[in-house]
Amino acid sequence: MPTVALHRARLHTLLLEAIGDRVVRTNQRVVGCEQHQEKVTAVCASGERIEADLLVGADGLRSTVPRAVD
Ligand SMILES: Cc1cc2nc3c(=O)[nH]c(=O)nc-3n(C[C@H](O)[C@H](O)[C@H](O)COP(=O)(O)OP(=O)(O)OC[C@H]3O[C@@H](n4cnc5c(N)ncnc54)[C@H](O)[C@@H]3O)c2cc1C
Repeated sequence: MPTVALHRARLHTLLLEAIGDRVVRTNQRVVGCEQHQEKVTAVCASGERIEADLLVGADGLRSTVPRAVD
């Protein structure tokens, strides 16, 4: 199997280009989440609420999401 080595920043750029603009949002700290019927809402420190069908907690070792849904 071939191995490809590339700089992390280059990988980020390639992934961002592949999914297009306005998909990845930065500078948003999730402080909680709420489940209601078939939807889930991520509550941000900024006060913004982002509703979706699915919320994946990929926020590292001290993830906020599992604590919020327990
Ligand atoms: C010093 C050090 C060296 C390491 N070296 C290696 C190595 O050589 N090889 C290896 O395989 N692993 C290494 N690791 C481990 C590796 O870094 C982790 O296993 C990996 O980064 C975990 O990925 P993750 O996506 O789960 O979390 P993370 O990489 O921690 O990403 C979590 C992301 O979520 C964001 N986030 C956190 N809280 C919130 C919130 N409330 N709202 C919104 N966003 C939030 C963070 O800003 C971050 O961008 C190392 C770790 C450390 C600390």
